[in-house]
Amino acid sequence: MTTPSLPKAVAVIGAGTMGNGIAQVFATCGVTTHLIDVKSEFVEKGVANIHKSLAKFQEKGTLTADQVVSTKARLKAGTDMGALAGVDLCIEAVTENLAVKTKVFQDADAALPAASILASNTSSISITVLAAKTKRADRVIGMHFMNPVPLMKLVEVIRGNDSSDATTDAVLGWSTALGKIPVPANDYPGFVANRILMPMINEAAFALMEGVATREAIDEIMKLGMNHPMGPLTLADFIGLDVCVSILDVLKEGLGDDKYRACPLLRRLVAAGHLGRKTKRGFYDYSQAK
Ligand code: NAD
Repeated sequence: MTTPSLPKAVAVIGAGTMGNGIAQVFATCGVTTHLIDVKSEFVEKGVANIHKSLAKFQEKGTLTADQVVSTKARLKAGTDMGALAGVDLCIEAVTENLAVKTKVFQDADAALPAASILASNTSSISITVLAAKTKRADRVIGMHFMNPVPLMKLVEVIRGNDSSDATTDAVLGWSTALGKIPVPANDYPGFVANRILMPMINEAAFALMEGVATREAIDEIMKLGMNHPMGPLTLADFIGLDVCVSILDVLKEGLGDDKYRACPLLRRLVAAGHLGRKTKRGFYDYSQAK
């Protein structure tokens, strides 16, 4: 069996939680990787997170000092979409908002070489809708990585209405070459992972709001009872409560079913700016956490 090859160069747009993780994985695997965000400060924060994570891998002995140095050297970071001109694959990992993603897709479509593939890491927005905003619908696909990207094996590969077989095969092969396990899904709201995960997180938020149990008890019951590695409220903090609300809105709108309405407590925390770990407060307080 031949080992699937990797693209020579990739661009990741959005240097937040997911974007910096995706960029880290490609750069670690030997791929020249451009990490792009709207402001230098966001890019710098993304790069700092990657450096911190690489240091942890080195401490654990998973990466050598030389590998860390070469990974950092392969990582090019900036705010210029011009970097897309030399890449085989661009992965969009910007804010989960259709208007924001549409603009990024149109800009990326204009900047990328004709043959390159444009992927979205969206958790729930239709790949078909994004593809229709470009002139390369056959080369648009979903690559839904899981958080934290360097540790999680799954890539949910979502075929849009017009994604070609060649595009799908390339992305399945590249994901495998990254050491991930790609699993294909079709383009319906929330795909598979979030169609099933978000109602659980939402129900946990309702249970907390209604006083069914404390946050700790809800998480402990789901951990011990269902053998989940972390409880749903802890997981929601990890994902980002704003991301959870956005996905629930897409599920409600796309599937036309009120059962996906976001819990008012989730919305209230988001309105207060308590978005989870990334703001050091969500369902839990992380201000003292290292
Ligand atoms: P985040 O808020 O941490 O990061 C988003 C980044 O996008 C920010 O740095 C922001 O400055 C940047 N951005 C916004 N507009 C931009 C633009 N026009 N050009 C370039 N950069 C821009 O969000 P995240 O959690 O990393 O989520 C990113 C995507 O990944 C979303 O689509 C989300 O649904 C998806 N996702 C998130 C998770 C998770 O656990 N957080 C898991 C899987 C998928």
